[in-house]
Parts: sequence; structure tokens; C-alpha cells
Amino acid sequence: MSRFFDPHIHMYSRTTDDYERMSLSGIEVIVQPSFWLGSLRTNVGTFVDYWEHMISYETKRAKEFGIEQFVCISVNPKESVSRPLAFEATDTMEKRFLDRERVVAVGEIGYNLINELEEEIFVKQLEICKNKNMLAMIHLPHLDKPKAMDKMERIFKENKYNFDKILIDHNTEETIQKTLSWGAWAGLSVYPRTKLSPGRVIDIVNRYGGDKIMVNSAADWGISDPLSVPLTAREMRKNNCRRDDIEKVTFYNAYEYYRQSDKFTWRL
Ligand SMILES: [Zn+2]
Repeated sequence: MSRFFDPHIHMYSRTTDDYERMSLSGIEVIVQPSFWLGSLRTNVGTFVDYWEHMISYETKRAKEFGIEQFVCISVNPKESVSRPLAFEATDTMEKRFLDRERVVAVGEIGYNLINELEEEIFVKQLEICKNKNMLAMIHLPHLDKPKAMDKMERIFKENKYNFDKILIDHNTEETIQKTLSWGAWAGLSVYPRTKLSPGRVIDIVNRYGGDKIMVNSAADWGISDPLSVPLTAREMRKNNCRRDDIEKVTFYNAYEYYRQSDKFTWRL
């Protein structure tokens, strides 16, 4: 059976039945980034409890289904605009969580509405990554992705970052070329309705090749599919994509990226 890696899935919002189906479909390892819980946070304690829950409880829950789970910790773009809470949370994250076991990256970070308040926390978290030599998982906003890319390009020009440590997620046909030209890793999120379909992923891979691209489900509270990675692999097989490309985008590239973190302890 094929082996799969889902490098972006919010299991906090998924049921145990999802774990059952994921493990039976060949998903062996997942990365769970910090996300917006769906309602406003009122104090730093809600971040603390959430991060702790992902590191401890979710790792245990995944293991019961033979799945290895790692986490990215961050103050999410949607949470970056609150003051002073976003700063308090970022400090707490840096002091208490980034050195914890299973924390393989800072993420998701980036823009949501694309404004200065978001950018302030985004840049701060990028700096933390750089200082701690950590991986950064960057989310592209749902709307106006090219504008976010232009803003990031300016940030990247002003400060030298190692693009091998940067994963830019939720790419589309509008952004993929730029992401790859920077030398960053590129996430493609496959959703049943919005985001990308397997067919669009196939077109992108046929055009740009499979290097540095990784497919994920980005499954969360909304209409999403925790089996998006095996589903995309199947559609790629049906469309006669190269086996090498299928394996790269649904397993090996995510492995190569996250393996750069010394907290990513799982091995093939
Ligand atoms: Zn997400």
C-alpha cells in the first residue's frame, strides 16, 4: 500500500472516525499547525491550553491509530491583530513552547486580511524562526494571494532567510511559480469545494514538476476532507502521472522538509 504524509491538518477539529479512515488509507504521519479556533481568544491561557493539547493529547490520540503527529505552534494570522494579546501570546510561545518535543515549526503564520497589525506579528515570528534556526510554515490568505506574495517578497528582500526552511502553503496557479522560484517549499491544499481540486494539482505538477511541492488536506471545521492526500494520489495514478511525482508530492517532500527539524523524530 502507498504511504502518505499529510503535512497540514487540524485534527483538533476532527473526530476519531477521521483518524480511523486516515490510518486505513495509508496516512502514517501528519503535521498539525496552530489555527484559529473559530471564536475570539480572550486571554493568553487559551493559547497555552490549545498548544498543550496538541503536543500531548493529540499525539496520543493519533498514535492509537498508528499515526505519528507533529505540531507547528504560532499565533495564527487571524489572531495577530489583537493587542496586546498577540504580543503576550508570541512571547509565551517563544519562552514555553518552541523548544517542546514534537514542535517542528512555527506556523501557520502570515497574512489574513493583509494589514500592518498582521504583518507586525508575522515578521516577529519569522525573526524568532531565524534566531532559533526553526522551520517556518507560512499560510497564504484566501483572498488576494498575489498581494500577500508581493508583501512577503519585500520582507524576504530586507532580511535574508534560508528558503529551504520556509514552507509556503495554500498555493494556487497564481502563486506557485513565485514560491518555487524563491526556492521555498510549496504546499497545495485540496478541498472538496474551495481551494484546489485534485485535477488542478495534477495540472500544476505536470507543469512545474514534483520537486518541493507537497499536497495537504488543510482539514478543519469547514467542509474539508482528511483523505485529500490519498485521494489526490489516486487521481494522479488515474491520470498517468509519474509514480515518482506522486510519491514526492504525497509523502517524500513533506518528509524531507520536516526532517530538517531535530524535533521531527519519525523516520521512514
Ligand atoms: Zn490550516
